[in-house]
Amino acid sequence: MGMNIYLYSDLEGVAGVNQWDDRSSDRPVDVRRRRRYQRLLMGELNSAAAGAFAGGASRVLLVTGHSDSVLYELADERLEIINGSGYSTWLPELDGSFDGMFFVGAHAMTGTPDATLAHSFSRGIHWNLCGRPIGELGAAAVIAGAHRVPLIMASGDDKLCAEARALVPKIETAQVKVGLGLNCARHLSKERAREEIRMAALRAVERAGKGQIPPCTFAVPPYSCNVRFPVDQAQASENKSGQEWLSPREVNFSSEDLLDLMRKVTY
Ligand SMILES: [Zn+2]
Repeated sequence: MGMNIYLYSDLEGVAGVNQWDDRSSDRPVDVRRRRRYQRLLMGELNSAAAGAFAGGASRVLLVTGHSDSVLYELADERLEIINGSGYSTWLPELDGSFDGMFFVGAHAMTGTPDATLAHSFSRGIHWNLCGRPIGELGAAAVIAGAHRVPLIMASGDDKLCAEARALVPKIETAQVKVGLGLNCARHLSKERAREEIRMAALRAVERAGKGQIPPCTFAVPPYSCNVRFPVDQAQASENKSGQEWLSPREVNFSSEDLLDLMRKVTY
């Protein structure tokens, strides 16, 4: 039996990408940029898939993280693809049947100095899980870890790769650019970026097959997550169970169950 890989994708960590994708805009300049970025993303996702299958994967499920970014008709024919909106949970269909998770096109967390397009779900939001600052990569690693699935490969800028290694020291990373500021990077060519990703994916699947990359398990009970917003939140007065607003811009979530906590925080 080959390895079953969950390939999660975002956009901001792709080589060639250093501007925000304004998904609500239909201005021609924004539409043109989105088309360019989508094609660059597909090159990296197909390279990750190629590496995974070469390394021993028998199934790769591609899950679109950044809405409307995956071009279905350009995807490697071996991929299965979850695309669309309205998932009932973040990271749909992720469960213990997967042998490893990839995060391609990932970006560093809010506030990381000089990281390209750094944010955590939304711009300016800071997350702290069980006393440790995390971003989207950390949230994905922790949720996967709760299913005993290791995050085995990540790609993005140098700051994202450092964030990944701090979370999962044994992870394989593909650095496709060097962040020089929020909207600036020194990029590899798309060809070199794709080769970095293909090789990291191949090594990751091979090493995961030998049990060399453990799941991320730093979060320990009692589970809590603090979220700080850059502006006042309208819903700040509503305290539901396991949710306590400390100010109009800061909320604490708590739960006995890690997956329950992450569901509360990500939705
Ligand atoms: Zn993101």
